[in-house]
Amino acid sequence: MEITVVQGDITAQDVDAVVNAANNAMRGGGGVDGAIHRAGGPAVLEDCVRRFPHGLATGDAGWTTAGDLPARWVIHVVGPIHGHGSRDQLTSCYRRALEVADGLGASTVAFPLVSAGVYGWPKGDAVDAALEVFRSARSAVAESRMVAFDRPTYDLIAERLG
Ligand code: ADP
Repeated sequence: MEITVVQGDITAQDVDAVVNAANNAMRGGGGVDGAIHRAGGPAVLEDCVRRFPHGLATGDAGWTTAGDLPARWVIHVVGPIHGHGSRDQLTSCYRRALEVADGLGASTVAFPLVSAGVYGWPKGDAVDAALEVFRSARSAVAESRMVAFDRPTYDLIAERLG
């Protein structure tokens, strides 16, 4: 698997699947979740309601249509809140997202830095958690693209990527 990093908006990524940092309710929210629902349109929420009537557990992943996004699918994960959830739940998000991607046959997948926004996870450790999973994963995904929203986050990921 190739691990790449870009700076930009995840909703603009031309990939098979984009990963959403959702919440347990799976009915939209702020941050990257809000951006994906806005850009994807109402089809994303409709599919969330249909596929996740009881929401999604922390650390788990599930997919919906990507609606109007360039991607085919949105893979939703629920990251842990720093100080409440565990690091294993954070790595589980990436592991489960890759499993879901494999199930869909998605070859290129764009990831936000799960839990590193409103959920307060320290950015350096959030990057390390993602890289640990990508580097050890047995997955048919050809490219895991880490999408940094701002320049400092891009520099941090690029540095840890080596
Ligand atoms: P969480 O609740 O899991 O912390 P957030 O959406 O608050 O999720 O933040 C996760 C990361 O996504 C943060 O690093 C934030 O800067 C980044 N982010 C927010 N909007 C976008 C976007 N449109 N594209 C890519 N990354 C984004």
